[in-house]
Amino acid sequence: MLKVTGIEKGIVIDHITAGKGLKIFQKLKLDKNNTQAVLLMNVPSQQLRNKDIIKIQDDLDIDLKILGLIDPNITVNYIEGEKIQRKMQLSIPEKVKGLFECKNPRCITTEDQYAVAEFTLVKNGKIQYRCNYCEELTEYKL
Ligand SMILES: [Zn+2]
Repeated sequence: MLKVTGIEKGIVIDHITAGKGLKIFQKLKLDKNNTQAVLLMNVPSQQLRNKDIIKIQDDLDIDLKILGLIDPNITVNYIEGEKIQRKMQLSIPEKVKGLFECKNPRCITTEDQYAVAEFTLVKNGKIQYRCNYCEELTEYKL
Protein backbone atom coordinates (compact mmCIF):
# COMPACT_ATOMS: atom_id res chain seq x y z
CA MET A 1 0.00 0.00 0.00
CA LEU A 2 1.04 3.54 -0.77
CA LYS A 3 2.55 5.19 2.27
CA VAL A 4 1.91 8.81 3.06
CA THR A 5 3.36 10.39 6.14
CA GLY A 6 1.00 11.45 8.88
CA ILE A 7 0.13 15.05 9.40
CA GLU A 8 1.02 17.10 12.43
CA LYS A 9 -2.00 19.34 12.48
CA GLY A 10 -4.95 19.27 10.16
CA ILE A 11 -7.80 17.16 8.90
CA VAL A 12 -8.07 13.63 7.58
CA ILE A 13 -11.22 12.85 5.64
CA ASP A 14 -11.49 9.08 5.84
CA HIS A 15 -13.80 6.31 4.56
CA ILE A 16 -14.75 8.21 1.42
CA THR A 17 -16.48 5.86 -0.99
CA ALA A 18 -13.90 5.05 -3.67
CA GLY A 19 -14.35 7.36 -6.63
CA LYS A 20 -15.83 10.27 -4.69
CA GLY A 21 -12.52 11.58 -3.36
CA LEU A 22 -11.74 13.73 -6.36
CA LYS A 23 -15.19 15.33 -6.30
CA ILE A 24 -14.74 16.23 -2.63
CA PHE A 25 -11.22 17.48 -3.28
CA GLN A 26 -12.63 19.87 -5.89
CA LYS A 27 -15.70 20.81 -3.83
CA LEU A 28 -13.46 21.90 -0.97
CA LYS A 29 -11.37 23.80 -3.54
CA LEU A 30 -8.23 21.99 -2.40
CA ASP A 31 -6.98 22.12 -5.99
CA LYS A 32 -7.28 25.90 -6.07
CA ASN A 33 -5.65 27.23 -2.91
CA ASN A 34 -2.28 26.87 -1.26
CA THR A 35 -3.35 24.22 1.21
CA GLN A 36 -1.06 21.23 1.53
CA ALA A 37 -3.33 18.33 0.73
CA VAL A 38 -3.14 14.83 -0.68
CA LEU A 39 -5.82 12.67 -2.21
CA LEU A 40 -5.35 8.93 -1.88
CA MET A 41 -7.52 6.84 -4.14
CA ASN A 42 -8.58 3.20 -3.97
CA VAL A 43 -6.97 2.47 -0.64
CA PRO A 44 -7.76 -1.09 0.53
CA SER A 45 -10.08 -1.00 3.54
CA GLN A 46 -11.63 -3.52 5.90
CA GLN A 47 -14.96 -1.73 6.20
CA LEU A 48 -15.52 -0.85 2.58
CA ARG A 49 -14.15 -2.50 -0.53
CA ASN A 50 -11.90 0.41 -1.31
CA LYS A 51 -11.88 3.92 -0.04
CA ASP A 52 -10.46 7.33 -0.81
CA ILE A 53 -8.73 9.43 1.81
CA ILE A 54 -7.93 13.14 1.83
CA LYS A 55 -5.26 14.50 4.15
CA ILE A 56 -5.07 18.23 4.71
CA GLN A 57 -2.16 19.79 6.53
CA ASP A 58 -4.00 22.93 7.52
CA ASP A 59 -6.64 24.31 9.87
CA LEU A 60 -9.19 24.46 7.13
CA ASP A 61 -12.79 25.25 8.00
CA ILE A 62 -14.52 22.60 5.94
CA ASP A 63 -18.23 22.45 5.29
CA LEU A 64 -19.40 19.17 6.83
CA LYS A 65 -22.89 19.53 5.34
CA ILE A 66 -21.54 19.48 1.80
CA LEU A 67 -19.43 16.45 2.66
CA GLY A 68 -22.40 14.66 4.24
CA LEU A 69 -24.43 15.38 1.15
CA ILE A 70 -21.80 13.98 -1.19
CA ASP A 71 -20.98 10.96 0.95
CA PRO A 72 -22.57 10.26 4.37
CA ASN A 73 -20.10 7.39 4.97
CA ILE A 74 -17.27 9.80 5.62
CA THR A 75 -15.43 10.15 8.90
CA VAL A 76 -13.63 13.44 9.52
CA ASN A 77 -10.65 13.29 11.89
CA TYR A 78 -9.19 16.44 13.34
CA ILE A 79 -5.48 15.97 14.00
CA GLU A 80 -3.27 17.84 16.39
CA GLY A 81 0.21 16.84 17.49
CA GLU A 82 -0.06 13.88 15.07
CA LYS A 83 -2.97 12.44 17.08
CA ILE A 84 -6.71 12.31 16.42
CA GLN A 85 -8.32 14.89 18.69
CA ARG A 86 -11.84 14.71 17.38
CA LYS A 87 -13.77 12.33 15.14
CA MET A 88 -16.93 13.25 13.28
CA GLN A 89 -19.18 10.69 11.64
CA LEU A 90 -21.09 12.44 8.90
CA SER A 91 -24.68 11.93 7.87
CA ILE A 92 -27.02 13.31 5.26
CA PRO A 93 -27.99 16.79 6.48
CA GLU A 94 -31.67 17.30 7.45
CA LYS A 95 -31.69 20.94 6.41
CA VAL A 96 -29.53 22.66 3.84
CA LYS A 97 -29.29 26.28 2.88
CA GLY A 98 -27.68 27.73 -0.21
CA LEU A 99 -25.87 24.57 -1.29
CA PHE A 100 -27.86 24.09 -4.45
CA GLU A 101 -30.69 25.71 -6.39
CA CYS A 102 -34.36 24.91 -6.41
CA LYS A 103 -35.24 23.29 -9.73
CA ASN A 104 -38.57 25.12 -9.98
CA PRO A 105 -37.94 28.05 -12.39
CA ARG A 106 -40.83 30.03 -10.84
CA CYS A 107 -39.64 29.57 -7.25
CA ILE A 108 -38.92 32.84 -5.46
CA THR A 109 -35.37 31.63 -4.72
CA THR A 110 -34.76 31.14 -8.46
CA GLU A 111 -36.27 34.49 -9.48
CA ASP A 112 -34.85 36.66 -6.73
CA GLN A 113 -31.06 36.64 -6.75
CA TYR A 114 -30.94 37.63 -3.07
CA ALA A 115 -33.19 34.85 -1.84
CA VAL A 116 -31.29 31.83 -0.59
CA ALA A 117 -32.79 28.43 -1.29
CA GLU A 118 -33.52 26.38 1.82
CA PHE A 119 -34.46 22.73 1.80
CA THR A 120 -35.59 20.00 4.16
CA LEU A 121 -34.66 16.36 3.59
CA VAL A 122 -37.48 14.06 2.51
CA LYS A 123 -37.07 10.52 3.74
CA ASN A 124 -38.23 8.34 0.90
CA GLY A 125 -35.19 6.21 0.13
CA LYS A 126 -33.67 8.72 -2.26
CA ILE A 127 -31.78 11.83 -1.32
CA GLN A 128 -34.42 14.41 -2.11
CA TYR A 129 -34.99 17.82 -0.63
CA ARG A 130 -38.22 19.76 -0.41
CA CYS A 131 -37.92 23.47 -1.03
CA ASN A 132 -39.05 25.47 2.00
CA TYR A 133 -40.64 28.09 -0.25
CA CYS A 134 -42.40 26.29 -3.07
CA GLU A 135 -42.34 22.64 -1.87
CA GLU A 136 -40.82 21.45 -5.14
CA LEU A 137 -38.64 18.34 -4.70
CA THR A 138 -35.07 18.63 -5.82
CA GLU A 139 -32.75 15.65 -5.94
CA TYR A 140 -29.18 16.48 -5.10
CA LYS A 141 -26.76 15.36 -7.78
CA LEU A 142 -23.03 15.42 -7.56
ZN1 LIG B 1 -38.38 26.38 -4.55
